[in-house]
Amino acid sequence: MSEYTVRCLLCGQASVVSEKQADQLQIAKQGGAYICDLCQRRIRHECEQQTR
Ligand SMILES: [Zn+2]
Repeated sequence: MSEYTVRCLLCGQASVVSEKQADQLQIAKQGGAYICDLCQRRIRHECEQQTR
């Protein structure tokens, strides 16, 4: 079983991606941009505040 780690672009927190997380696994393999759940929620929250 192989493990991949991705690092969040915003907070720099590294997290291990399991094989079940297909989307994040793809990002980890390609070395693409990853944003953790916490930061995604934060971004979504800020966007909602800006639109109001
Ligand atoms: Zn983050």
